Amino acid sequence: MPLGMAKSEADKLVLQQQQWISRTLMRMQQQAPVVEEALPANIELLAIGEKIQVVYVENRKEALIWKQEVLQLSICSDEVAVPELLRYWLKIYAKEYLPDLLKKTAADMRIDYRAVSVRLQKSRWGSCSMRGNISLNAKLLLLPPEVVRYVLVHELAHLKHMNHSAAFWHYVEKFEPDYREKRSELRRLSMGLPVWVHG
Ligand SMILES: [Zn+2]
Repeated sequence: MPLGMAKSEADKLVLQQQQWISRTLMRMQQQAPVVEEALPANIELLAIGEKIQVVYVENRKEALIWKQEVLQLSICSDEVAVPELLRYWLKIYAKEYLPDLLKKTAADMRIDYRAVSVRLQKSRWGSCSMRGNISLNAKLLLLPPEVVRYVLVHELAHLKHMNHSAAFWHYVEKFEPDYREKRSELRRLSMGLPVWVHG
């Protein structure tokens, strides 16, 4: 409202322009790019070469239905809750794959770990405790297999060297000769993850 305008005048104007206002509001909502990005049509799981279709449905009892045989997620929810539902699903799905990938990589390296857990950390791709527990980020499913392997080798290498010393990197290099490129690729890809994964 411009300074010095009486409220009654403003009310009159709003009434007069009511149609234009609601039309414009509707158009703005349709065009809003943030809403579109928060509601992805597909989820690419590069790590396992799968593309998941996401369909948005109305009036269902369950907020999320996962059909693995057709790789399809049906979501019935308001836009605000969708990213949270997608993250919840990603974590469950990652638990099916990441522990196996770790097991295979550990066998390649002939190294033993104690246990593995899959979480949705904000900033770390993985971690390794002194006791030999490895924690992996569910978001790894979104990265290409060679980058995922680098992360797994990195965490497993911490079982030998609990630091980032020259000896640690030398050990990593034995299994990942291109670890430098993979590491910068990981940094680059971290910036371009879909909006919904950031909780
Ligand atoms: Zn490390």
